[in-house]
Amino acid sequence: MGKLLKHLRRRITHDGPLTIAQYMEECLSNPRHGYYMSRDPFGRGGDFITAPEISQMFGELIGLWCGIEWLALGQPGPVRLIELGPGRGTLMADVLRVAKGVTGFSEAIDLHLVETSPVLREHQRQNLPSIKPTWHDHLGTVPDGPALIIANEFFDALPIRQFQKIPEGWCERLVCMDEKTGRTSLQYGWSSSHMVHSMVPKILANAEPDSVVEVSPVSLNYMRLISERITEGRGAALIIDYGHVKSGIGDTLQAVKNHAYSDVLSDPGEADLTAHVDFEALLNVAIDCGAQAYGPVTQRALLQTLGIEDRAERLSAGATSAQAESIRQALTRLIEADAMGELFKAIAITCPDLDPPVGFQELDG
Ligand code: SAH
Repeated sequence: MGKLLKHLRRRITHDGPLTIAQYMEECLSNPRHGYYMSRDPFGRGGDFITAPEISQMFGELIGLWCGIEWLALGQPGPVRLIELGPGRGTLMADVLRVAKGVTGFSEAIDLHLVETSPVLREHQRQNLPSIKPTWHDHLGTVPDGPALIIANEFFDALPIRQFQKIPEGWCERLVCMDEKTGRTSLQYGWSSSHMVHSMVPKILANAEPDSVVEVSPVSLNYMRLISERITEGRGAALIIDYGHVKSGIGDTLQAVKNHAYSDVLSDPGEADLTAHVDFEALLNVAIDCGAQAYGPVTQRALLQTLGIEDRAERLSAGATSAQAESIRQALTRLIEADAMGELFKAIAITCPDLDPPVGFQELDG
């Protein structure tokens, strides 16, 4: 039996079934056996690959976005440059390289990385040799002041709760032990219905029988912190992830291992667990906090507005034909609709006195 499964069995025996959020948190962030806490999951040899790992162009264009927003903010120094869930630190290395091209920006940067995994913190330290970041377990401990905040594939890793409509009403999906078969394994169960009714957004309360609704209190809380920080201390945030434009119904919890989908319950701690981000819910929190909220726009639209095609052309000009081919493939992967171009979306949050940021200008604030 896996070590995390043993731990979960003990916890469930003592405390009762887990919510999906508690299960996700154990699987991803258990200090000893959590998925992110003990490994580097990225790249070909890992379980999945993210946009900054596909091409330097991604981080460079986000760096450009940050540089433009820093100028729009009136070139504050210091400015807290904050990344949530920096993975290997690849995106930030590309951002910092581009920052050198904007006079005064590099010198103004005070870098803060919000990362819980010791293994990934070490990668970040190695990939960012020219700067001394401050690491945090949570955004809440980053000092106040003007801030630029970026997050790529961070929100999809935050725990969600799931609710399903059964004939008696809404109940919460739980993770329980299944000891019947003689082997210890996990299975889904349900809470009693009346206790969770208030967690389901009002607009979804009349959904069809059997509908599943997902809510991520941790994500909403993160969004509140980002928005409050940005409205009070001034700043801008760019959040990129996969998810849906409108809050809706549907079970999006998925496990990925070795670049393939796997069963959510069968290998706790050994597979990445994610859920689609509810962008509408995030934007509503930002608006409630008095911030300007923009998007979602597709990853394709954002990267094209920032000039990814020109950047690819320039990189290819000095490249061998094999390198030029790999740049072309990376471009396709990042922007085409059947790759990451449309599933991935971006939202931006700014303080009220800023104009709409680049990539979001043709939209209403
Ligand atoms: N942004 C990176 C990595 C995305 S994977 C990229 O695009 O390649 C998710 C990242 O978020 C990892 O670095 C993971 O360790 C971190 N993470 C997951 N849950 C977290 C949490 N609750 N608090 C802080 N970091 C978290």
